[in-house]
Amino acid sequence: MEIIEKAPAKLNLFLDTPFRHPDGAPEWQMVMTAIDLADYVKVTPYFKNQLITVETDLGFLPQDQRNLAFQAAKILQKRFAINQGVQIKIRKKIPVAAGMGGGSADAAAVLRALNKLWNLELSRVELARIGLLIDSDVPFCVYSQTAAVSGKGEIIEPLPDLPPFWIVLAKPRASVSTAGVLKKIPYSKLGHGDYNKMLLATASQDLKQILPVMTNVLETVTQTNVPEILRLKHKMIEFGAQTAQMTGSGPTVFGICEHYSRAQHVYNSLKGFCETVQLVRPCHLHCECRQ
Ligand code: ATP
Repeated sequence: MEIIEKAPAKLNLFLDTPFRHPDGAPEWQMVMTAIDLADYVKVTPYFKNQLITVETDLGFLPQDQRNLAFQAAKILQKRFAINQGVQIKIRKKIPVAAGMGGGSADAAAVLRALNKLWNLELSRVELARIGLLIDSDVPFCVYSQTAAVSGKGEIIEPLPDLPPFWIVLAKPRASVSTAGVLKKIPYSKLGHGDYNKMLLATASQDLKQILPVMTNVLETVTQTNVPEILRLKHKMIEFGAQTAQMTGSGPTVFGICEHYSRAQHVYNSLKGFCETVQLVRPCHLHCECRQ
């Protein structure tokens, strides 16, 4: 028996942090959504041993306990005293260290897959709580739907699906260390977004209300080291995107267009300025990762 799970990337439509917890973790105020750019994770049981193995099609990624997918399997195996190993194979499509939560998406896919394979019958809330032990984005990735995310990443409140629109993704060459960015958040100088307004705007499913309230307070931190972020944002707007913003700790920038023709124009125009450009949409209710 094998289980294949889709592991969609995430985007932060809204990312703010009002304070840091005593253990150093930021308190988050986020609105996140899953997009139709996804890794695929295949989990197959080993019947004769308790080994956990990870293979990916990207040679430079860790294939051992440093891989978040491995950590997800290990936690469930240990916690529920499972006497079975698993082979995890990951087909990577989500750019690595890009602010799109690729490792967290893979870990969440393993949690969902093993919940089925080992008949654990854990609810999404329970899986999300376990996911937080791996990374702050794993709880959201367990849900993989538009949601308000708060606490250290473990409080997930699903929101209605977003209205239809197109997303142009542009990833500068630089890779960003999330831990490094989080350490440098300038709390005393931070200008804050209006989280409640964003929650209301998202609930209204009206793009005109959502776009002006979007923000990401980590942009200022990452831009210091990756000035291309600002350049790409300006280019996106110049080519016709209705808004442009960095996702997560970066460095990927995304532009939003309501209409396909405009998004395609932004996509084609950007290709001359950035190596990695993609045209995607938000995941919607029919997405297989919700099942
Ligand atoms: P986040 O903002 O959640 O930290 P990200 O999208 O910026 O995510 P990832 O693609 O998850 O970053 O990769 C961050 C680091 O995690 C990489 O340097 C990589 O070595 C490590 N990693 C561990 N497991 C995985 C995995 N399954 N896929 C990708 N990276 C992984």
